[in-house]
Amino acid sequence: MTTFQELGLDPQVTRSLSDMGFEEATPIQAEALPVGLSGSDLIGQAQTGTGKTAAFGIPLIEKADPTLGGIQGIVITPTRELAVQVAEELNKIGQHKGIRTLPVYGGQDIERQIRSLKKRPHLIAGTPGRLLDHLRRRTIRTDHVAITVLDEADEMLNMGFIEDIEAILGQFPEERQTLLFSATMPEQIRRLAGRFMTNPQTIRVKAKEMTMPRIRQQFLEVPQRHKFDILCRLLDIQSPELAIIFGRTKKRVDELSEGLNKRGYSAEGIHGDLTQARRDTVMRQFREGMIDVLVATDVAARGLDISGVTHVYNFDIPQDPESYVHRIGRTGRAGNDGLAITFITSREIGHLRTIERLTKKRMERLPIPSMDAAIEGQQRLAMDKLNKLIKEGGYQPYKTLAEELLEESDSVTLLSAALKLLTKEPDTTPVRISEDSPSFGKKGGGRFRKGGGGGHNRHRSGGGSGGHSGNRRRQHRHN
Ligand code: ADP
Ligand code: MG
Repeated sequence: MTTFQELGLDPQVTRSLSDMGFEEATPIQAEALPVGLSGSDLIGQAQTGTGKTAAFGIPLIEKADPTLGGIQGIVITPTRELAVQVAEELNKIGQHKGIRTLPVYGGQDIERQIRSLKKRPHLIAGTPGRLLDHLRRRTIRTDHVAITVLDEADEMLNMGFIEDIEAILGQFPEERQTLLFSATMPEQIRRLAGRFMTNPQTIRVKAKEMTMPRIRQQFLEVPQRHKFDILCRLLDIQSPELAIIFGRTKKRVDELSEGLNKRGYSAEGIHGDLTQARRDTVMRQFREGMIDVLVATDVAARGLDISGVTHVYNFDIPQDPESYVHRIGRTGRAGNDGLAITFITSREIGHLRTIERLTKKRMERLPIPSMDAAIEGQQRLAMDKLNKLIKEGGYQPYKTLAEELLEESDSVTLLSAALKLLTKEPDTTPVRISEDSPSFGKKGGGRFRKGGGGGHNRHRSGGGSGGHSGNRRRQHRHN
């Protein structure tokens, strides 16, 4: 156990950390902070959710001087969301010391960023392309940059940013500290480190901490065409507080979020094709609990830290075992429990085993949930709502009506009717999700499509009861 006081931090920084609820350092922080604070270059390898942001954020804030003008530190991140999130965390850590961090990223009006840069932030968190842009325009100057940080370096490699990063790093003063964080260490990242870092110390949080013990991992074997119905059943049974559903492609994310809305769930999708403004809105609504379900591609959700995500559903098993670990790491954060459920088709079982070998953990097989279980789940949710309301109060104005009702029917009858009203019955509005075959486990190469020219491939609505109840929106749980 290492407390932040023991590290001899500036009392203003310690105060911010304690405001943030950080009491002791996480393992990667305990190891990385002394190195980072000493001024050495550092390579830190640890999984998502281990607290890497503060591991580089604390040295950045400690070393920054609030009275100095120019930019003193730069963090390079793979995505816009991550740039914003890192800047938010740095602003929290720096709040009492008066160190300000500005996020810069593509998609946001550059003139506006230039105006914000004139307000003299001390630190920058940005995406590679936009950083290069500012460096070229000299709206970000490198003269005073003493620390550079590469966050999620492997992801930047995957996204094809390596040349941009080399171009950026090449422009900084030689005499500076470089911190590199990555979940994995591919050869190209090692080479980058060799070129731009001086005697870096490597810190690795061991593989046994790879899979987070707080995340329960399960899988379901379902034919592709039933996946969506089964997903809805699970949502009805589990009533997740906040859930993220991962889809393989942008198209699939769109189809899934549309389909979920058709069936009355409050869901929104995010992926790289949406405007920045749209992505910001969706993320804010999700954080604030205005939408319950976020549908995302890997890249859009990479590194995002949203507290209180209770469920992760992998509607498609990720191609890359590493991204499985990243996806499920969106839940079970900061000491909470989480549940991660992965859908596979029968021919993806081998791929599932590959993932298990990496995580060193077996996933439990979940039986296909029945429609009855889904109904029961919704009935229980209705009961919970009623009980919650009883605790919260505010139903006094209804008492006269209740007494009137009790003169005609007995209490059990009345309550049963009220529960029925409150229960969202499973919705079977037809929803079609396109066939989507991954490149692994594909038989015979070609894409297999059912039904010809414009056929509807209609979804069978189980029992045909009440399928088309129109625009019945799911009542929002937080009301
Ligand atoms: P990573 O970058 O490794 O994925 P983050 O830096 O996003 O992880 O941290 C994950 C979560 O843990 C965040 O909510 C963060 O605020 C929280 N956290 C980080 N360090 C600590 C700490 N020392 N004590 C408590 N919570 C922490
Ligand atoms: Mg991170």
